[in-house]
Amino acid sequence: MGEEVRLFEEEFASYCQCGYAVGVASGTDAILIALKALGVGEGDEVLVPAFTAPPTVMAVVLSGARPVLVDIDQKAFSMEPAIAGDSITPRTAAMVPVHLYGLPAPMEELCRLAQRVQVPVVEDACQAHGAKLGSKSIGAWGKVGCFSFYPTKNLGALGDGGMIVTDDPELAGEMTKIRDYGREGRDIFSKIGFNSRLDELQAAFLRVKLGVLEKGNARRRELAKRYIQGLGDLPLRIPQAEPEAQPAYHLFVVATRRRDELSAYLASRNIETLVHYPYPIHLQPAFAFLGYKKGDFPNAERAAAEVLSLPLYPELEDQEVEEVISAIRDFYKQ
Ligand SMILES: *Cc1c(COP(=O)(O)O)cnc(C)c1O
Repeated sequence: MGEEVRLFEEEFASYCQCGYAVGVASGTDAILIALKALGVGEGDEVLVPAFTAPPTVMAVVLSGARPVLVDIDQKAFSMEPAIAGDSITPRTAAMVPVHLYGLPAPMEELCRLAQRVQVPVVEDACQAHGAKLGSKSIGAWGKVGCFSFYPTKNLGALGDGGMIVTDDPELAGEMTKIRDYGREGRDIFSKIGFNSRLDELQAAFLRVKLGVLEKGNARRRELAKRYIQGLGDLPLRIPQAEPEAQPAYHLFVVATRRRDELSAYLASRNIETLVHYPYPIHLQPAFAFLGYKKGDFPNAERAAAEVLSLPLYPELEDQEVEEVISAIRDFYKQ
């Protein structure tokens, strides 16, 4: 927590159009520390999507609160605002929408709902560094925005790291204490905290890589546009954000009932694909204690059965994307 961390916090806060940024050890810690600083814990409920990376929900459980799963919409695959509204109870203490695949969640609706019921929004922006909705950065919509710098993310360190952004100076102060054993000044420990430091060396790498994030994201959007143009007429669903969104395209995902067949066909043509994620949250063994069952979140279950991530990263060449597109077109011609 030296000069590089301090400077990276300043630069990342300003990049996200936020007043404060607090470096932490991972994206999971970012969500956990944000919830802790907001006073969320035992006896509270926190709304999270039923289809996301498991760490989103792990962080909620680790805070002591109970995750309340909300089904996703069929368009951007994010927390469906109407279902979120129906899931609010007097115990609801926070909402954690996820910008899955780098596609901005419908933040206007979700923030309006949160404001109406007076609960803070903690954005899981771990897949959405540099995404925007209208002119506002993802991460700046909620009370707090949480980022991961795991090496595969749009902004990745050479190891683990994370960041929490906010406009609230008091909350930033709380989070700064919690990441450092609850320390206040040198020798006073004023609350219970963790060891969740962002490493000085990672911060130095991240400062350099922040400088090329916009370029990388622009290239991702260019490649995504090619995919959308090349695949738009096929019987595939392509998750899409609202028209005023500028997605970060952490992943480029298509959805089809013939997912496993398509994936095997592409593998036979030497094209690697992955599934993010093959199980919805409620069907993961770790979350069985929540008591949900198969059928509870039909959109999440359908997504888990149908999504396939196609190759996408800034260094991918136009020609390579065209090859993937023609392989997929050949699959549908068979
Ligand atoms: C990567 C990721 C996380 C966890 O971040 P770590 O740095 O690996 O702890 C949380 N949520 C989402 C959506 C992610 O993609």
